Amino acid sequence: MTILWPIIVLTAMGILLAVALTLADKFLKVKEDTRIDDVEALLPGVNCGACGFPGCRAFAEAIVKGEVKNLSRCRPGNPDKNYNPIIAYLKDHPNEDGSLIEVKI
Ligand code: SF4
Repeated sequence: MTILWPIIVLTAMGILLAVALTLADKFLKVKEDTRIDDVEALLPGVNCGACGFPGCRAFAEAIVKGEVKNLSRCRPGNPDKNYNPIIAYLKDHPNEDGSLIEVKI
């Protein structure tokens, strides 16, 4: 009988924690703009920090938030390979209110 109590307690704790994690996932989830992933994929991916941001992801976030207007801040970037595809992508993917993110080379 004494062996049953630890099993019961651990099972109850497991169930409670599973419920808590499920609720936390449902109510505390942070929605991220999917355009950040796409813009990041179009950057060189060197993560050198020459743009003034700690890495390509932070630079992509700043672009999507409209905080960066000049793509040539990314020194390893290339107009044909990186800048122009990002400009075209942002023209095709406006903000929720329909406004465009304006960036230039
Ligand atoms: S300069 Fe370009 S390659 Fe370097 S971290 Fe910034 S976005 Fe990435």
